[in-house]
Amino acid sequence: SIRTRFAPSPTGYLHIGGARTALFSWLHARKHGGRFVLRVEDTDLERSTAESVNAILEGMTWLGLEYDEGPFYQTERFERYNEVIERLLAEGHAYRCSCSRERLEQLREEQMARKEKPRYDGHCRHRDVSADEPHVIRFKNPLEGQVVIDDLVRGRVIVQNAELDDLIIRRTDGAPTYNLTVVVDDHDMQVSHVIRGDDHLNNTPRQVNILKALGASVPVYAHLPMILAEDGAKLSKRVHGESVSVMQYREEGYLPEALLNYLVRLGWSHGDQEIFSLDEMVQLFDLGEVNNSASSINISKLLWLNQQYIKNSDPDYIAHHLGYHLGKLNIDPSEGPDIVAVVEAQRERAQTLKELADICQFFYRDFDSYDEKVANKQLKAAALEPLQLLRRKLSELDEWQQGPIHDAIHSTAGELDLKMGKVGMPLRVAVTGGAPSPSLDLTVYLLGRERTLNRIDMALA
Ligand code: GLU
Repeated sequence: SIRTRFAPSPTGYLHIGGARTALFSWLHARKHGGRFVLRVEDTDLERSTAESVNAILEGMTWLGLEYDEGPFYQTERFERYNEVIERLLAEGHAYRCSCSRERLEQLREEQMARKEKPRYDGHCRHRDVSADEPHVIRFKNPLEGQVVIDDLVRGRVIVQNAELDDLIIRRTDGAPTYNLTVVVDDHDMQVSHVIRGDDHLNNTPRQVNILKALGASVPVYAHLPMILAEDGAKLSKRVHGESVSVMQYREEGYLPEALLNYLVRLGWSHGDQEIFSLDEMVQLFDLGEVNNSASSINISKLLWLNQQYIKNSDPDYIAHHLGYHLGKLNIDPSEGPDIVAVVEAQRERAQTLKELADICQFFYRDFDSYDEKVANKQLKAAALEPLQLLRRKLSELDEWQQGPIHDAIHSTAGELDLKMGKVGMPLRVAVTGGAPSPSLDLTVYLLGRERTLNRIDMALA
């Protein structure tokens, strides 16, 4: 059965590249009715933090990438790693090494001088190092032959064993190393497909050799190419304007489904289709079709997608995520019109949820003055008469509905022999303060009688 995993190291936020790795792993599992496992690789005690674990979990939740098993924490599995290391020792696949730092440094210098790749020379392979003296444990890498990896993205990768050396699998302080813990976990968690960034490709032949020594089956690998910044440089926080943290995209007003749609297209395509619902992604995504070259972030494309999602998604879904941005503006949507109705009325006018929250504010929050420029233009003397008449008509309406509101505005213009704009513009400014807004009758209807009349009074004052 298909089992995939996402295995972040909790040393920062959930990176946009990590989110794509998680998405591809999640999609592969979902497509094949398999299971998706979350594993937190927190063995680097100095760099791992609880905040980072929370940030990653929060990012996964926001994106909607639910996992079927986990989160598992590597720091809780040291006993198991030690058991495997002892077994490798007992079966002759590993050995204790007591080479001093000085010796290793000297070896390295000699190799560099000969223009060779620095690698451990196997000095302790045949020595009997006592468990009582300080030592590391090294994996006995095969000396001959080759490792063949049929990577779903990279194609066939062949590495000669002669190029690999005897990797440290347990440090002097007793801590297991990354390549060992990954192998044990992928094996124990029965991972069938290892999907990860191609910065790990170097580790793969070593991991395959350890798996073989354990008599374990080797998973299928898919190494994903990097995501680059818009200018093609490596995406890093300091140099580029693009956000690298998933939660930063939330702050900027992106919908999680728009971001997922954007991420799925980084390195994968299906004809020239741009918009994929989650269901379509699950159906159509194919790891074997993932492109083998790096892709660049393209913020204008993401923005375009976000706008499409804001225009076309279920308004309840948008309202749910808009709630976060309204909250940041200290707006409580229960203090005004139905938020779903407001979303439907305003969504054409925004590219991000942040913009949408901004132009929805006036429905929920009263203001106590008008922008001077706007007032000078629209609320000057000529506006007084139509606003007064309109106020009376609106206050006398039996039914607060769009139709009667529409009629009140038109009959005001008719009775005063004014063009519609001479009535509509002042009214719009009076009730919205000048924010982008839907048709007047809809705006006034949603705003409600009390707020509308109060704001006209304020404009008249
Ligand atoms: N913990 C590793 C990382 O965050 C990933 C290891 C893996 O996927 O095998 O880069």
